[in-house]
Amino acid sequence: MQPILLILSLLHFFKAPPLPPETECAFCNRTVLDSQKFYEDDLVIALWNYRAALPGHSLIIPKRHVERFDALTDQESLKIAQVIKKVDAAARQVFNSSAYLLYQKNGREVGQSVPHVHFHYIPRQFGDDSLISLLFNICTLSLKKNLTPTEMGIATNKMKLAMESPMITFKHVDLANRAIVHKWLKEPHVAEWFYGQGLQNTLDHLDAFLNRASSDVKYWIAFDSGKPFAFFITSPVSKPADPLSKFCNEDGPAITLDMLIGNPDYLGKGLAPNLIKQFLLTEFPTIKEVLIDPEASNEKAIHVYKKAGFVKLEEFIPSHSPNSHIMMRLNMRHLKKYAFKPYDKESPALFQKEKNRISSLIKQDTRIEHVGSTAIPNLGGKGIIDIAIASDNIDIISSELQKIGYEFRPTGSTPTKLFFKEPSGTFHIHLMSPTTTEWKNLLHFRDYLISHPEEAKQYQELKKTASEDNPANGTKYRELKDPLIRKILDSK
Ligand SMILES: [Zn+2]
Repeated sequence: MQPILLILSLLHFFKAPPLPPETECAFCNRTVLDSQKFYEDDLVIALWNYRAALPGHSLIIPKRHVERFDALTDQESLKIAQVIKKVDAAARQVFNSSAYLLYQKNGREVGQSVPHVHFHYIPRQFGDDSLISLLFNICTLSLKKNLTPTEMGIATNKMKLAMESPMITFKHVDLANRAIVHKWLKEPHVAEWFYGQGLQNTLDHLDAFLNRASSDVKYWIAFDSGKPFAFFITSPVSKPADPLSKFCNEDGPAITLDMLIGNPDYLGKGLAPNLIKQFLLTEFPTIKEVLIDPEASNEKAIHVYKKAGFVKLEEFIPSHSPNSHIMMRLNMRHLKKYAFKPYDKESPALFQKEKNRISSLIKQDTRIEHVGSTAIPNLGGKGIIDIAIASDNIDIISSELQKIGYEFRPTGSTPTKLFFKEPSGTFHIHLMSPTTTEWKNLLHFRDYLISHPEEAKQYQELKKTASEDNPANGTKYRELKDPLIRKILDSK
């Protein structure tokens, strides 16, 4: 970036804003709060900034109209600090961020624009190094476009969900976490299995990793709502040179895994098998196999790994220890996500019943259609009844659906389509405007397959293969289906 631009934008950042008009404070305004808020307790509110320097740019404010930080009560400032940590934990989950900037201005002379205490929280990802681009984004905030109501709705719902559910996130160990890893390795339940040369290797390689020495070995920490509690080590198996290759059964990438729960409060709760699955599915979705080698006498670990899906291969003596170890292998296919089910002829009736329920509760002009694989006779699939709703009042229907038990799911939503699930998982709703391409495509695709049973059969086989080959990989699954889908849509 040009230095002159940076200087101009810095000047803008610190320029005293005009004296506040006599109108109501923006952060005490109901309309502003209703559309931007994603968290509220008795003292503090967290909201999405209506313009974002970077995705996740949030504001944490006291509920009471207080102009400056020094006028907050001790209770309020403590609560604000707690909420900032919660917002950070949620942002780590939603944006995969690992760093964040916090700033707060007091007084017009330093650029405070709204005379109501507000902390800006801006998350950033691991490896985003350019400080200048970050500063530029902040300084030119007032020139950015406002988010649309739909964008704002998706963003706030994402954060709301993340703030409410206890969440596990993973990130690389950084210098700030070095001490906690060292502490965990000294915990009695860990030291029993990490000792001697094996322990020394771990500590040495960890420091090399922290100093950004090029290393294939990666060190990870699992966080529960931002609180570190478990440690993972992964390294690729480079085939065929790596002697570990002989334990692999499939072509394609494989890794080795080592893990421990460091915080003793998290022991004995049966968390580990799901934690391992979640870690592998989020961080290594394209890996074929995972190897792990607990000590043969570590029955607890072997039990946990079996529960996560690992199978025992053989006993061996590693170079770092005189004791016998057991090589275990996990095929990622076993972490099945997409199960294929045959066609169920009850589906149309189930759809009709749910359609009647929705239409009787939603007092709006809508079109409700059965789409997806359960809408096509004799087509197998995931067995979920997909419902497409077209309406010109997406925001109203969205809140009505949430009143009748549907949960808004930001991950399945796009700027033009909102996605909902109900708790039993039987029905999925896709809500959009009737003018969108998505709406037209969904109906065309369904009608085409109903009138072309041969191609429906072909589509089913493709889905079956895709789900068996890539159970843990949604993107790959869609990639395999895409060519046929495109062909059908092009036939319009
Ligand atoms: Zn106010």
